[in-house]
Amino acid sequence: MTYRPTPPPLTGASLDRAAHLREDRDALLRMQADASARTLVFSGDATLFRLLEGGLRAEWLPLDRVEADEPPIFLGLAEGAPRFVTRIDADAVPPEGCKYIDLRSALFSGDFEGDEAAIVAGAKAISGWHAGHRHCARCGALTVPEQGGWKRRCPTCEAQHFPRTDPVVIMLVVRGERVAIAHNVNFPDTLYSLIAGFVEPGETIEEAVRRETLEELGLRCGRVDYLCSQPWPFPAALMFGCIAEALDDDFTLEEAELSDAVWLDRDELAAVFRGENETISPPRKGAIASSLLRDWMERKVG
Ligand SMILES: [Zn+2]
Repeated sequence: MTYRPTPPPLTGASLDRAAHLREDRDALLRMQADASARTLVFSGDATLFRLLEGGLRAEWLPLDRVEADEPPIFLGLAEGAPRFVTRIDADAVPPEGCKYIDLRSALFSGDFEGDEAAIVAGAKAISGWHAGHRHCARCGALTVPEQGGWKRRCPTCEAQHFPRTDPVVIMLVVRGERVAIAHNVNFPDTLYSLIAGFVEPGETIEEAVRRETLEELGLRCGRVDYLCSQPWPFPAALMFGCIAEALDDDFTLEEAELSDAVWLDRDELAAVFRGENETISPPRKGAIASSLLRDWMERKVG
């Protein structure tokens, strides 16, 4: 096998996280007051975007334009300029020419990608973590953000809580010159993608690939290899892209999850990506499944 995977969407953000500044309260206050400081704004799960002709741009606002209950979360430095993220009420009215849009819809539309999409994805993950972790998981008391928003502390029991990331495996299951794609019962219409599943406590990435492939497709795996990863902040996944050599041909589907699976060769997959297959459409733009399948099709992996 050869591995030269294309960096997946939502990776390679240019922002300098400047983590050494998170514990420096004076530096955080100075940066919040800096004229070049800007913040992304999340209203509930949705990000503030400016609507452009034929596209979207994340709208970065001066900090004094945004009112919030908690201090802004420090994202990092963009060419030295401080960048934050702020959470506001879920029913906020957007400024003129702007709209609150869920990142997933923005990605799937194909109107938002590249470096800015990677930055917004990270902002969504950390912002969503704060929304869901206001209370201490140990004693239930209200917690307070610290370290520029990269930690929450419980003033009652002194427990410290850190942003979580949930590992998920997603795999090219290959057999000779063919790859398996499947239709999940929750997918729209004709959409097919790679199978995926959470890594369970006590498992390695490779073990999770083998277990999920057997559970979902009924296929035993030979060689399993890790290829590349993608943060997927819906709400907090880190997708581990893998390749697995199947030892069986016939699918036995986990019917609660999948309604169909097919083997496709590279020509058949290319036709799917060109939109020439009436019953099968490819994974959404922005998803690692799309970049992994394209890499396999172009023989960069496999
Ligand atoms: Zn507590």
